[in-house]
Amino acid sequence: MSRYDRQIPLIGEDGQRKLSNSLVAIVGLGGIGSPLALYLGGAGVNLRLIDGDLVSLNNLHRQILYGEDDVGLPKALVAEREIKRRNREIEVEGIPEPLTKGNVGDVLSGVDLILDATDNFATRYLINEYSVSHRIPFIYSAISGFYFAITFIVPGETPCLRCIFPNVQDRGPVPVLGMTPAQVASIAAVEAVKYLAGMEPSLKGKLLMGDLRTMEYTEVKVERDPKCPVCSRLFTGGP
Ligand SMILES: [Zn+2]
Repeated sequence: MSRYDRQIPLIGEDGQRKLSNSLVAIVGLGGIGSPLALYLGGAGVNLRLIDGDLVSLNNLHRQILYGEDDVGLPKALVAEREIKRRNREIEVEGIPEPLTKGNVGDVLSGVDLILDATDNFATRYLINEYSVSHRIPFIYSAISGFYFAITFIVPGETPCLRCIFPNVQDRGPVPVLGMTPAQVASIAAVEAVKYLAGMEPSLKGKLLMGDLRTMEYTEVKVERDPKCPVCSRLFTGGP
């Protein structure tokens, strides 16, 4: 019996092999990154887990990788321990550093897909630039209160994050229920599994937004900015 018996009928033996040969970076190990790491690790995906923060008490209602005993410890190292405890067949590397201009080339190198589980646009724009310049797809996920938004970015094919959100200023911590990041993480994880297993993801070039207070979901097509400072060169062949 394989631990993947219940998902192989959906993605195929070949899809499972592809998952087991893939490496995904999860940037941010908070409310979105915790369930993302659990689901993707459980599905058999190799993981690089990036976060420079320590676990704190007011994280626990949504950051389900951690317990009270972990308060004060580096999230990336606790996350690595917790994912390895659940699946010893995959490779998991925790990197207890924030993503910066200085380390982005090292910590995101060689990955097949980048999952944005951060809480700020400064880091997202950094991921976007790396994604576009190295042609690595990435999934943008964000939450605020009861709201979430998500899109699947494939450089050279879909709009990039700068096309969609040209200049968002970060406002600092927002209120959040634990279930909102769990919702968007689940959607990001299934998009990632589909993509890595060779199936077509559903959110390429589409921004899915949800309001969990009213349970209204909206999907809009997003447009490329032909003058985008980050990705326009992929489409024009220019510098
Ligand atoms: Zn762009």
